[in-house]
Amino acid sequence: MEESTDRVCIVCNQPKAEGITIVSQFVCEDCESEIVHTNAEDAKYHFFIHQLKQIALPKNA
Ligand SMILES: [Zn+2]
Repeated sequence: MEESTDRVCIVCNQPKAEGITIVSQFVCEDCESEIVHTNAEDAKYHFFIHQLKQIALPKNA
């Protein structure tokens, strides 16, 4: 029986049990809180946005 609810975070690529789902893609709570606390001028913010844009795009493009 597979009881693990871990899903792979699209930002850090680590399997995590806790997090949120955005556009059917999983973002762990660590990354989600990092996104919230990241300044828009921080380079990391642009990395997050890049990752989020990827999941928003159609897969068949
Ligand atoms: Zn993560």
